[in-house]
Amino acid sequence: MTSQRTRDRMIERLREQKIRNRNVLATMRQIPRHLFVDEALASRAYEDSALPIGLRQTISQPYVVARMTELILEDGKPDSVLEVGTGSGYQTAILASLTAQVYTVERLTQLQQRARRCLQSLDLHNIEYLHSDGGWGWPDHAPYDAILVTAAPAEIPTGLLGQMAANGVMVIPIGEGRHQELTKITRTSKGEFEAEVIESVTFVPLLTGSQ
Ligand code: SAH
Repeated sequence: MTSQRTRDRMIERLREQKIRNRNVLATMRQIPRHLFVDEALASRAYEDSALPIGLRQTISQPYVVARMTELILEDGKPDSVLEVGTGSGYQTAILASLTAQVYTVERLTQLQQRARRCLQSLDLHNIEYLHSDGGWGWPDHAPYDAILVTAAPAEIPTGLLGQMAANGVMVIPIGEGRHQELTKITRTSKGEFEAEVIESVTFVPLLTGSQ
C-alpha cells in the first residue's frame, strides 16, 4: 500500500483531476507521502484525502498540494518561497524539490520538529525553519517570489502582502468556517495586487500565536 505502484495511481488520479504541470507530477511521484503520516495511517497515504497529523491538524489532500504548487509555478520558477504552516512537511518537500530555497514557518513546535526530521531524512537541505506565528511572515528573508499559505485566515494578513516581491505570487485559502476560497494574488511590477479566485477548499484555520 506504500509502493511505487500505489503512488503511480495517485499520479493518474491527479492527471484526471486536470493537474498538468509535469514537474509537479514527477515530483509527487517521487516523494513518499506515507513517511509524512503516522505509521497507522500509512496505508491510506495515497488516497486523495487530507489525513490527521495530530494536534488537530491535517496533511493536505494530494490534489490541493498539486494545485497550489502548480499555481506558484505558473508564471516561472520562483527562487525563494515562503510557506506558512509546515504541518507534516509534505508540501515543504514538494516545494524544496522544485525551487531553490524554501523558508517554512510553523506555530506548533512538535509538528515542526517531526517535519524537520522527515525532510532531513529525505536529504532535502534547501529548507530553513522558523517556529513562529506565520501570519507575520518571515521578514528577515523577504521579499519572496512566492508565498504559499496552508491554513486559512478570514482575511489576508497584510504583513504577508508586504513580503511579496514585484511580480511575486501568493496562493492562500481565504475565509472562515469549512468553505474557503483558494486565491492567487499577484503583485504587479508597479506594486499593485491582483486577486484571482481559483476554487473552493477546506483548510484548518490560520491561528495566532505559537506553542
Ligand atoms: N502543508 C501542510 C498543512 C498542514 S495544516 C501539510 O500538508 O502537512 C496547516 C498547518 O498550519 C498546521 O500545522 C498548523 O499548525 C499551521 N498553522 C496554523 N496557523 C499558523 C500560523 N499562524 N503560523 C504558522 N503556522 C500555522
